[in-house]
Amino acid sequence: MQIIQDLSLEELTQVCLNLGQPKYRAKQIFENLHLGKNLDEMSNIPKDLKDKLKVQYIDTPLTIIHTLVSKDGTQKYLYKLHDGNIIEGVLLSYEYGNTLCVSTQVGCRMGCKFCASTLNGLIRSLSSGEILAQVLVVNRMLGGDNKTRKITNIVLMGSGEPLDNFDNVVKFVYLVNAPEGINISQRNISVSTCGLVPQIDKLAKLKLQIVLTISLHAPTDEIRKTIMPIANKYTIEQIIDSAHRYFNATGRRVIFEYALIRGVNDSMECARTLHKLLSGFPTHLNVIPLNEVKERNLESVTRKDAYRFAETLQKLGTSATVRRTMGEDIDGACGQLRAKFIAEQTDKEE
Ligand code: SAH
Repeated sequence: MQIIQDLSLEELTQVCLNLGQPKYRAKQIFENLHLGKNLDEMSNIPKDLKDKLKVQYIDTPLTIIHTLVSKDGTQKYLYKLHDGNIIEGVLLSYEYGNTLCVSTQVGCRMGCKFCASTLNGLIRSLSSGEILAQVLVVNRMLGGDNKTRKITNIVLMGSGEPLDNFDNVVKFVYLVNAPEGINISQRNISVSTCGLVPQIDKLAKLKLQIVLTISLHAPTDEIRKTIMPIANKYTIEQIIDSAHRYFNATGRRVIFEYALIRGVNDSMECARTLHKLLSGFPTHLNVIPLNEVKERNLESVTRKDAYRFAETLQKLGTSATVRRTMGEDIDGACGQLRAKFIAEQTDKEE
């Protein structure tokens, strides 16, 4: 069965017309769905229509089954999907608003050596409505609606490789940006990828105003291959070239992620090589001390080391900062998402 939150307003309109309903019903239902309501909770929709829709569609794609709240305000959620699968999410609070980190797949097939999401491979991709529902339920839970949003920014940095679920991720961007719905600005949405070059080009062609974030994590292919299997498919040169094309097509600065792993990618030589790679177009590098994952044999660096690494780049003229860590006191309880509390710094800085 399809998920009703997968439908755009146009698609929902067609569904309503097919059921002999007036067009405005679709708009009412769409608005209600974006308020985080399921069909039973929509008091302005006739019961017989709701019953007909319930036969065809799943209207509760997921529910929050557990919430962890950190002293610094960071919240972590465990969602249960309609089919019983579990995904996680993180809410980061800033002065300028709240950023929700959403998952795009259950598990992941990219196999990065430092990442907990990929430990058991890919279970399945999420539909656009399942990605959207993460935003809608949290917005509602925090008391937000479609005008007064409690979620202002979204990062697609939970479990999964967004560009390995391309069509659903792109549809999600359109859905979450719909003026009749929650209408979160594309400029406040970041998509993070391990560097799937053809899909980066495909995304560039759509000329969305979203932020592209690339998980680089190494300055040479040799090092990258030891931690990211995808490096056997695409070279760093190909990735940087695609980032140039993305910038040229969209005018949006590309952000790079760099998790520092002791003895692997943390030398000053690495910083200098990185600088050479990133000079020549507007970029920013987020330096993150690795979050050690129990099942993986990789060691992190100290925050001081991370600052030194970022400073080296800054002195050479590459924009680089160390990511603020949040919710450290609740990390332990949160399996894979301890690995990725990613903040979208872009719009704050721009
Ligand atoms: N698949 C996408 C998005 C999901 S991961 C990607 O690769 O970008 C979100 C970010 O968290 C990525 O930059 C990823 O490399 C990083 N990450 C994963 N595990 C981590 C860990 N243990 N420590 C630090 N960063 C990690």
